[in-house]
Amino acid sequence: MALKSNNRIAVITGGASGIGFAIAKKFVENSIHVILIGRDKTRLKLACETLGELADFVGCDLTRISDLPVVVKGIVEKHRKIDILVNNAGMHLKKAIDEVTDEEYQKVILTNQTAMFCLTREVTKVMQKQSMGVVLNISSMASQYGIPNVIAYTASKSAIEGMTRAMAVELAHHGIRVNCLAPGFIKTNMSTLAMEKDPERKKKVISRTPLGRFGKPEEVADAALFLVSGSASFITGVVLPVDGGNSIGF
Ligand code: NDP
Repeated sequence: MALKSNNRIAVITGGASGIGFAIAKKFVENSIHVILIGRDKTRLKLACETLGELADFVGCDLTRISDLPVVVKGIVEKHRKIDILVNNAGMHLKKAIDEVTDEEYQKVILTNQTAMFCLTREVTKVMQKQSMGVVLNISSMASQYGIPNVIAYTASKSAIEGMTRAMAVELAHHGIRVNCLAPGFIKTNMSTLAMEKDPERKKKVISRTPLGRFGKPEEVADAALFLVSGSASFITGVVLPVDGGNSIGF
């Protein structure tokens, strides 16, 4: 659907499932036009049907980084601007450090970190011309403290938090804010897969989460809406845990 003049335009990577879909739904409920990016076109189409006329999608594998300038150009040609970028897409890899191959390590870094950089570079070029924009990155508890058996994921998510601060400082004078959410353990397909195989870890997660449960994707979406809204107009460069206290639990 074409742009209504008063709608803000948000690009959400991985917006057809889990946390990304919850963010897309929250944005649409608040009259933000969402463009979902992912590889699975059937799921993207279904997500857009569920979200209604304020949702659109672009099927794209973010690891094909040379395609990303064209993807962003296409979005701007169709929608004229990009107000918000949510870098949510990501992959997990749970393996002991000595079993992670070079290829596996590089794939996680490419998906979670390099692609996020390349897409953000292209989108913030557009935002600089607009003299406004908001970028929201998604890191993880793996960047808040040491978790065993997730070395590549931890490297990628720690980089995202560092890049959030670097981008926030570099882009502030263009009117662009850059923030990051660090979700705790949120019930989605990704986390269910990781936890099902490891009941001990599941027990540990709950025992060190003061609020005593897994989070819901909608709870991350509430924080996302706040950080991209005018209510957060003086907030940039922060990493906000949405974790039921997991990162400070004893
Ligand atoms: P999901 O597996 O539901 O979502 C991951 C999304 O990323 C999918 O929609 C997938 O779409 C997209 N994606 C993955 N690789 C690519 C790619 N190469 N190109 C385009 N899209 C891609 O997981 P969650 O919702 O749980 O995770 C969302 C984010 O939140 C991730 O960054 C994750 O690390 C982070 N997170 C999650 C936590 C949790 O407990 N669930 C905790 C902390 C952080 P498709 O398959 O169509 O490509």
